[in-house]
Amino acid sequence: MSSSGAPHGLLFVLSAPSGVGKTTVVEAAIRRTPRLTRSRSYTSRQASDGEIDGVDYHFITRERFEAMRAGDQFLEWAEYSGNLYGTSQVDTERVLAGGDDLVLVIDVQGGAKIRRRGWPAVYVFVLPPSFEVLERRLRERKRDTEAQIQRRLDVARQEVAAVSAYDYILINDTVEECVGTLQAIVQAERARRAGDTGDAHAAAIARAGRAIRGAMEDVIAPILAGFARPRS
Ligand code: 5GP
Repeated sequence: MSSSGAPHGLLFVLSAPSGVGKTTVVEAAIRRTPRLTRSRSYTSRQASDGEIDGVDYHFITRERFEAMRAGDQFLEWAEYSGNLYGTSQVDTERVLAGGDDLVLVIDVQGGAKIRRRGWPAVYVFVLPPSFEVLERRLRERKRDTEAQIQRRLDVARQEVAAVSAYDYILINDTVEECVGTLQAIVQAERARRAGDTGDAHAAAIARAGRAIRGAMEDVIAPILAGFARPRS
């Protein structure tokens, strides 16, 4: 990463189980927040109906993905449900070097890889209000068979086990509220960065952000307990 003192954006890593609604939340937060953008990952999976190449993902063949991986072009990559997903290292560096803040919407394996690489990043995990609500949302989408829904829920159980490694935990109860909280996190982290340069007001906002996180623990524990219950 740049060490030149040139403008440098913040990196946010955002993960959530499938069906929580993370894409809607991130897109809305980006529309409302200047100088915040999200990465476009590369994937070997097929585009679904309505998805656009270069907008939702860069859709590429497995062979091309493997060639990029062999060429060390990914900051991180992961296999999810039999498909490969990766974040381009040069795209990430370009956005951050330009001074914009960047959200990587990636799974928990990807989050762990960024952490191991030692890149400074802010980690945000989005939970549903409960396990039951997640199950209901997955059914209401009418996209999957019962077996696929059960598989997504099993993956979700594994994913929430990683939550303690994240700096912030959001609950997507209503989209509006969740978007507002994500924007507040971005503001708090921007303030923290400014606080590092000695701005007392900004440092106070950053402290408030951390205090809110502490108060949330009581809300989060029962949600996590719902994921830990054995399958009925
Ligand atoms: P979907 O196929 O539903 O779009 O994505 C499946 C999972 O892969 C989601 O959890 C999504 O966040 C994650 N994902 C998307 N792009 C990347 C990426 O570049 N790296 C990693 N590690 N995960 C990704």
